[in-house]
Amino acid sequence: MRRPGPGQGGVVRGVLFDMDGTLTRASLDFDAIRAEMGISEGTILEYLEAAPEEERRRGFSILERHEEEAARTSELNPGVTEALAGLAARAIKTALITRNSRRSTDATCAMHGMSFDAAVTRDEAAPKPSAEPLLLGAGLLGIPPVELLIVGDHRYDLEAGREAGVRSVLFLTDASRRFLPLADYSVERLAEVVDLVDRLNGPGCCVAHSARRGR
Ligand SMILES: [Mg+2]
Repeated sequence: MRRPGPGQGGVVRGVLFDMDGTLTRASLDFDAIRAEMGISEGTILEYLEAAPEEERRRGFSILERHEEEAARTSELNPGVTEALAGLAARAIKTALITRNSRRSTDATCAMHGMSFDAAVTRDEAAPKPSAEPLLLGAGLLGIPPVELLIVGDHRYDLEAGREAGVRSVLFLTDASRRFLPLADYSVERLAEVVDLVDRLNGPGCCVAHSARRGR
């Protein structure tokens, strides 16, 4: 699926990835976290940011405990390793852009041996759907937003992409399908991200890849 937006369509030199539900199977039980915090509905981070200091502190400690547990028990979605290897082979840079804490993000990456050229967590920037973490990621990669893709499974990834001028790719799952109208592209499997990059960059664009293969 393709729905190019205004000013979009440059070559792709970098890919930003959401973590929970995209690279890893969604393992955070938001209903359980909300129940423990005594919140009935809504998004947890936004609620905590607006809460009084004491409640905020207590809430973040509950959230962080759940995130650390989720990091310990997390599993990668199929195709992550192939996607990251395929992008690396094409000299496409990658960054992780997550609403998680730095601590649980680093633990998840270490556990699965994943590495990225940059990672932006909620400890460094306002969380998605703000454009801020994407723009920070773009700066860290040294790549303009128009030459990036963001791959994610939530409306927030797509909205943040639109706001930052980064083309969005929805990772399709039963739960994420409803966000399809907001996405520029979609993939059923993560390995398809590499095919999408090849398609967008066109023939002759993946010089690094061809040269590497020819050696
Ligand atoms: Mg997600």
